Amino acid sequence: MTQAADCIIIGGGPAGLQAAGRLAQAGYHATVLEKEETVGGKLNKWDKLFPDFYDAKKLKKQLEDDCASSDVTLMTGAEAVKVEPEGSMWKVTVKDGRTLSAPSVLLCTGFEPFDATRKEEYGYGIYPDVISSVELEAMIGKGEIKTRDGRTPQSVAYIQCVGSRDEKTGNHYCSVNCCICAVKQCIEVKQLLPEANQYCFYMDLRMTGQHFEERYRESQEKYNVHFIRGRVSETALTQDGRIQVKAEDTLLSRPVKMTVDLLVLMVGMEPSPSTRHFAEELQMSDPYGFYLSQDHESDDNLTRHAGIFLAGSGKRPMAIPKTRKDADAAAWEIIRYLKQHTR
Ligand code: SF4
Repeated sequence: MTQAADCIIIGGGPAGLQAAGRLAQAGYHATVLEKEETVGGKLNKWDKLFPDFYDAKKLKKQLEDDCASSDVTLMTGAEAVKVEPEGSMWKVTVKDGRTLSAPSVLLCTGFEPFDATRKEEYGYGIYPDVISSVELEAMIGKGEIKTRDGRTPQSVAYIQCVGSRDEKTGNHYCSVNCCICAVKQCIEVKQLLPEANQYCFYMDLRMTGQHFEERYRESQEKYNVHFIRGRVSETALTQDGRIQVKAEDTLLSRPVKMTVDLLVLMVGMEPSPSTRHFAEELQMSDPYGFYLSQDHESDDNLTRHAGIFLAGSGKRPMAIPKTRKDADAAAWEIIRYLKQHTR
């Protein structure tokens, strides 16, 4: 079956929904293909957003409301598997065999959290109380932070840059969000566990967004989080089932050894399987599998293919506010293209 749309948006996360809403406001029809049974993408796994603790569910609702227009068709459980030219149009094939055609396609296929089992020196998947920042977020969302055997943690350590800026995994890029995410989660953990001591191991702290630096100061001054500059070299399980962490404090040039109840790995961002797939298929992959835009400086939403556009963290790691702005910019580029080529 072929459905008429001005733009087929692949991915119904924040970027896809934002762009669909903007296109609809301008009178263009967008069809959003989302492979999961619900739209929202990673917003569905997040409780509060940094830096202002905005409710992720509320933002999802706002984005959905913007798409509540006859000019947006949301198709869930619809995984796009192929994008190919068809005359002056682009044909998108869905896994179940359906096809759609449109003059433009916007790829919003996003990222996946880094799989921490690839950093075995941190003990993820081996020691029960080594968890990822995604798992900590789920605990925070439920309002209960416990070790696997049900204890209330008295001490929590965090390791930054897990799977980012890392020779071993080959991911040399910075994932941009995990520094401020650690600050946000440290504050939330302290609110839930006022007695807990918290230690955050970092290489650099990159507080690059608006109000990030203020949150970082607040985490130290009001929530007593200890930031230690240094890379953790190894972790081990103690006889009483806690986690021993060995590192070097590179500011004080001395070794650090501590035992904590919970160790949280701040995992970075990698291209999602769909991002890798379409980046490869359309021959526009950067060395890591993210999308390569036509020109990072001036044509960041455009690609080497006329009519194919990009938005969001399938291009590179970005936070939600930047993702939404990027989707706005992509919608504008699509409108410009459609005006030139179809109306
Ligand atoms: S944002 Fe911070 S934790 Fe994440 S990769 Fe960059 S420097 Fe490391």
